[in-house]
Amino acid sequence: MRATARESRTWWRPWGCESMHDVTAARQIARTVLQAAEQQGAGRVEKVRIVLGAMQMIDPEQLEFWLEQILRGSAGEGAEIEIRRNPLTVRCRACGWEGELEVPDDPIYHLMPWIPECPACRAEELQVLGGDELTVESIRVREAEGADEDA
Ligand SMILES: [Zn+2]
Repeated sequence: MRATARESRTWWRPWGCESMHDVTAARQIARTVLQAAEQQGAGRVEKVRIVLGAMQMIDPEQLEFWLEQILRGSAGEGAEIEIRRNPLTVRCRACGWEGELEVPDDPIYHLMPWIPECPACRAEELQVLGGDELTVESIRVREAEGADEDA
């Protein structure tokens, strides 16, 4: 199954506090996971796979940490969390250059938007092909009934 948490685009908003941003993202993911688990008539969530785009500027370790805290006491407690990082991939509308861009790891960009430019022609008209997502790629759920033994 696929479920997106695209409303998390609010990362443009100045949080002023890095971990606040991570907590917010973790909350959105937890909500998506638990809703999906419920829809599947779930027992426990065994594994959650997340795709984290570089543009989200979220530390995967922080995200995992907060997700574990938030899922505590829910059907998602103890679930294995796998985070796959997606690089920022763009296409330049001016010259057609296509490739990966390095997202600067500078706290200033938690306060202001980072405007990427084309490495070939310096144009700022870039089309984002990938790397701005924060998506729950898949969720593995254990059946509610049956053996409840940890493998
Ligand atoms: Zn260009």
